[in-house]
Amino acid sequence: MENKTNILMQRYDFGRLLGQGNFAKVYYGRNLASGQSVAIKVIDKEKILKVGLINQTKREISVMGLVKHPNILQLYEVMATKTKIYFVLEYAKGGELFNKVAKGRLKEDIARKYFQQLITAVDFCHSRGVYHRDLKPENLLLDENGNLKVSDFGLSALAESKRQDGLLHTTCGTPAYVAPEVISRKGYDGVKADIWSCGVILFVLLAGYLPFHDSNLMEMYKKISKAEYKCPNWFPPEVRKLLSRILDPNPYTRISIAKIMENPWFRKGLDCRHLRASTEDKQKNPVNADTVIDPNECCGSPSTETKLDMAKPITFNAFDIISLSTGFDLSGLFVSSDQKEEVQFISKNSASSILTKVEEIARCLRLKVMKKEGGAMKLEGLNECRSGTLCIDVEIFEITSSFHLVEVRKSSGDTLDYLKMFQQHLKPALTEIVWAWQGEQQD
Ligand code: AMP
Repeated sequence: MENKTNILMQRYDFGRLLGQGNFAKVYYGRNLASGQSVAIKVIDKEKILKVGLINQTKREISVMGLVKHPNILQLYEVMATKTKIYFVLEYAKGGELFNKVAKGRLKEDIARKYFQQLITAVDFCHSRGVYHRDLKPENLLLDENGNLKVSDFGLSALAESKRQDGLLHTTCGTPAYVAPEVISRKGYDGVKADIWSCGVILFVLLAGYLPFHDSNLMEMYKKISKAEYKCPNWFPPEVRKLLSRILDPNPYTRISIAKIMENPWFRKGLDCRHLRASTEDKQKNPVNADTVIDPNECCGSPSTETKLDMAKPITFNAFDIISLSTGFDLSGLFVSSDQKEEVQFISKNSASSILTKVEEIARCLRLKVMKKEGGAMKLEGLNECRSGTLCIDVEIFEITSSFHLVEVRKSSGDTLDYLKMFQQHLKPALTEIVWAWQGEQQD
């Protein structure tokens, strides 16, 4: 397989193996129509089934729309066959950043550039309520212009599951980049945990080695929990100071991204375009930086209206959202959006205003509204048609505090009648509350 060219869904060819993880092999590929280079990550369904990760992939596509940034590796699309899942990703021609560090520490200006790009990318994701939780060298790639591309945003819970499965200890081995509160597994703030990992990465870029290292894992944990590290003598005082604020074992007093961005050392030579993009975005979609993610809770049942109304809503990272999926049938992804019996869109409205809007539309379309538990609803046609009564299920999932995923699905009745009604009436009426339709390009 590694040496011959494969054709994927008549749209991509792929051949050369770029790299390999626990669950995936990554191949170099090309879009047959445009000639664009891509990376194709192939995941064995059986392998992820075995570790209980069956209900995943579908909603990842919705999350893709949330994390488009010049320093985040873009996920173009997800495809599936009976046995495999294919993630078509932006190709990072420069390979792993840490291949560079392996050859020796980086110059201060170069390290700063990568750190700036890392922070702006992470900030952008946080502004959308998506946390990486597994920032580490393997996830930092470079494009052909030497720009940083953070990979696996949204897929990072794969690593989380590896941990639950016990595989991490044997395969990935090191918690060197993980924040103390994550190690203690008491529930943590995804924002602050990511900031810690960025601090470790900055140290490694400038030093050429890890801040916390010990051949004994327990000793290493101890060092991390006390933030016991020593800066080499070539670290400038401004960097030492900044690192001491990032590598603060107390997540509550640890520096915020906003403060890192104000730091004079950080700002030197900063490309403000990306910074501006992320701050502008933030103003539009304020985030609750205090949201606590409990790793033991986040993969639970679908978020419902009741959960949304809780004083402290549980926020899901991209991967958790995927795991809300009720099935593993990706067949819908190969059907053009105007022929789907199930569509999803992202809304920036609150769950209650989404429900109100849907009710309003249903009344106009003379559909009976039946509320189901947890904020979901069923819309029922008044007249029996060719294949029985038309029923439409509408379900709302919280992606982050400012984004909801809405699933609209025909549950019974005639498909043609449904599609006609959906395209001509339902879809146009929903426009007001739609931020992005799943699978459709959005600015
Ligand atoms: P992963 O399973 O995502 O950790 O990928 C395994 C390895 O494949 C990475 O460490 C990279 O060396 C390589 N790789 C992954 N994604 C890409 C990409 N988009 N472009 C180039 N190489 C990649």
